[in-house]
Amino acid sequence: MGQAGEWDVIVVGSGLGGVSAAAILARSGLKVLVCEQSDGVGGLAHAFQRDGRTFDSAIRVLAEGEMVQGLLDWLGVADQCELTVIDHLYEARFPDRSVFAPTGLEEFMEAHIRLFPGEAEGIRAFFQLRRQMFLETAQAPMRVTDPSALGQLAELLPTLMKYRTATLQQVMDEYLRDPRLKAMCSALWPYMGAPPSQLSFFAYSQFIGVLIDGPSYCRGSFQKLVDAFVTAVRRGGGQVATGTPVERILLHPDGRVAGVRTAAGEVCTAPVVVSNADARHTFEELVGAEHLPGAYARRLRRLRPSMSACVVYAATTQDVLAQQPAHETFVYRHWDHEDTWRDLLAGRPGGMSLSIMTMLDPGLAPPGEHLLIATAVAPWRLPDGQSWHERKDAFADSLLGEFETVIPDLRKHLTFVQAGTPQTIQRYTRNHEGATYGWAMGPHQIGGKRLPHDTPVPGLFLSGHWTEEGPASFRVILSGMNTARQVLGHLGTGLDVPTFKPDDVPQLAL
Ligand SMILES: Cc1cc2nc3c(=O)[nH]c(=O)nc-3n(C[C@H](O)[C@H](O)[C@H](O)COP(=O)(O)OP(=O)(O)OC[C@H]3O[C@@H](n4cnc5c(N)ncnc54)[C@H](O)[C@@H]3O)c2cc1C
Repeated sequence: MGQAGEWDVIVVGSGLGGVSAAAILARSGLKVLVCEQSDGVGGLAHAFQRDGRTFDSAIRVLAEGEMVQGLLDWLGVADQCELTVIDHLYEARFPDRSVFAPTGLEEFMEAHIRLFPGEAEGIRAFFQLRRQMFLETAQAPMRVTDPSALGQLAELLPTLMKYRTATLQQVMDEYLRDPRLKAMCSALWPYMGAPPSQLSFFAYSQFIGVLIDGPSYCRGSFQKLVDAFVTAVRRGGGQVATGTPVERILLHPDGRVAGVRTAAGEVCTAPVVVSNADARHTFEELVGAEHLPGAYARRLRRLRPSMSACVVYAATTQDVLAQQPAHETFVYRHWDHEDTWRDLLAGRPGGMSLSIMTMLDPGLAPPGEHLLIATAVAPWRLPDGQSWHERKDAFADSLLGEFETVIPDLRKHLTFVQAGTPQTIQRYTRNHEGATYGWAMGPHQIGGKRLPHDTPVPGLFLSGHWTEEGPASFRVILSGMNTARQVLGHLGTGLDVPTFKPDDVPQLAL
């Protein structure tokens, strides 16, 4: 308690998109307050402890570790967390074949060519196209407001302009023939919560474009990364208050932001509020839709949230490394991802992966134990009217059962199991219907079609996976950087935020 009073900036929510913005603003000399409704900081980046075990609640890998490292250095907190590069991406198991995906574009393509040598040319063209999209995106403007500029852009950025509204499936159909190869080349779709037929190729190409160089893991859990940002906020004179839900974003009579009122009734004033919370929650409950221009309110209603997930946290005394597994294994019961999508909509496990966290970081568990995290893409509503509360245990058991092809008898040796459902995600983050990635990642909900950082409410800014940079840890940190940049401009500080890797971090445009 004791947050009441005057602040320069109040940040609602301590997800990575919130704490990264807060840390930069505090480092820039502003008096910053972060209000977090939950008892722990980090939102989806929060890690929890159970009997000497540390589980990341959601995040398992981080792209663009180098850029994040640069930001931590600039904030003076690089010593607070250790990012290590993982030497492979994943293994994807299909009904009668599997692919082990190494890092490095050449190695990644070769792994697929070895399985489908007759399609070498198509595989190379498909993944080079992804690279080209990535490079062209790095040169694209953040937003195009003048329609006549589109013609010019088509000449300058031909690949990007051709495929920017395509789905992953459409582009695979153009370059690849064998449906099994297409399934393998899109095996990572659960990371984005939509099957290839619904997933933006643009977003997928950006995503895999940064992951392919080698994802990073944060030793000791991603909580360390969150805590490093929190340290930077506190060192800059700011405050991070947990167990402090914001109930209302207060406005002056002329519509400008005045501050926030917490659920405990405390009033904190500030000329700027950054909301890292769910965008609908922000506008419809905290601000009040009556304060929004009609067009903005309608846009907010049109945007669809992403799918949710079920996550099972487990510990075992089995020697799981004897099976020589990948650090993350996707298991598909079907070759056709549309069949997998039908399974998960019907409430059966689908879009599943198993991560062996102690393979990367043995210190997460007591000696002799391994920690496993099984994840499945899952809908908010079950089709048969059952609640997730009723379904949870049976779902967790069958999800773990699916991985007994990876680790035989997995369920017989468990020393700990706890399951989280879409309702758990909703409860801990207030993300609409337990959304895992902000808005769904279809071609019409990415980049500039998501929400910009500035809003129609003067002094209110947004940061996190509902905004233009999109979802995932690295992108929401980028979103925090861009939000902080805009806030510094809005307050007329004359300060800016460095770009830590200016040449190849695309801002996500159009
Ligand atoms: C199961 C799962 C696995 C994932 N795996 C990965 C992965 O391996 N790698 C990766 O990069 N990304 C992963 N993601 C995606 C990634 O976790 C998110 O995109 C990202 O963490 C979102 O960060 P954020 O800052 O936008 O919001 P959030 O983390 O959702 O934070 C929002 C915060 O706002 C707080 N809040 C909301 N309302 C209020 C209020 N009224 N008052 C105060 N506080 C409030 C919430 O409590 C929360 O702390 C995964 C997501 C899920 C669900």
